[in-house]
Amino acid sequence: MKQPLVYEVDLTKIQGDGDFPCPNCGVIISPEDETEDVYSILETKVRGQALEELVIQCNKCGSKIRLIGFLIPEIG
Ligand SMILES: [Zn+2]
Repeated sequence: MKQPLVYEVDLTKIQGDGDFPCPNCGVIISPEDETEDVYSILETKVRGQALEELVIQCNKCGSKIRLIGFLIPEIG
């Protein structure tokens, strides 16, 4: 059984403003960065209005990283 390597990053375990190093190559990935220089968004999963899961790809090393643990309160 061969599966593509996908790293998982739990955002609730990240201190600070949400930046984290790529688990494979260490490049700093900032979820606020919308330029897609460092990473590309492959997949987004939403539940209702809230972002639940994000799959990104590191543009430096090509690793796929699954971001979980979004804690975005529902507004309204
Ligand atoms: Zn990387």
